[in-house]
Amino acid sequence: MSEREAVLRDLAERARFYASLTDVGIPRARAAPDAGGELKAIRDFIGDCQRCKLASGRKNIVFGQGNPHAALMFVGEAPGADEDEQGLAFVGRAGQLLTDIIEKGLKMRRSEVWIGNVIKCRPPQNRNPEPDEILSCQPFLEQQIRAIRPKVIVGLGKFAGQWLLKTAEPISRIRGRLGQFEGITVIPTYHPAFLLRNPAAKKEVWEDIKVVRDLLSAG
Ligand code: URA
Repeated sequence: MSEREAVLRDLAERARFYASLTDVGIPRARAAPDAGGELKAIRDFIGDCQRCKLASGRKNIVFGQGNPHAALMFVGEAPGADEDEQGLAFVGRAGQLLTDIIEKGLKMRRSEVWIGNVIKCRPPQNRNPEPDEILSCQPFLEQQIRAIRPKVIVGLGKFAGQWLLKTAEPISRIRGRLGQFEGITVIPTYHPAFLLRNPAAKKEVWEDIKVVRDLLSAG
């Protein structure tokens, strides 16, 4: 190789390296090459989970679904009745609104993103997840995020926002605040179920979605 070729190759390698860094100079996390296989292994490990008290009341474990190589991941709170019935995340009314956010707001398809929850079993009467339930499920969501390594994670509602940002601050204070989860950009926003009850809050979610769109389109 001539000296010129060596210099050009070196420059190209440096350019690739710098392009792989985040705004603050940290190497951007990449999806595991076999993210689908890793997700399957996580699902197998969860098995017929009996690790917390929600096991007795659930019909189906809602593992989450979507593209294992997604650049965008949504994390909700917990499965509701429809999700428990079908074993899929966000398939009820709130799910329809989430689909609109993805398709109309972000101009993406639902199948392009990953959708999951902080906990994988429906709490009775859709009550809030309890701390021991969140802790039992925590390793699985962490492993899912590490397998997918999206560019951006949107936390839907208080429980996901607090879990991702490791804070106890109210959702009204943390929504729209950018943070990091193991080097991945996180943005909490209002939960679609909250938007169904408070349509005026869609304005703020739209602000957050524009930030997500910009983050996804930046390098
Ligand atoms: N609400 C959630 O937080 N998750 C779902 O999957 C459905 C509704």
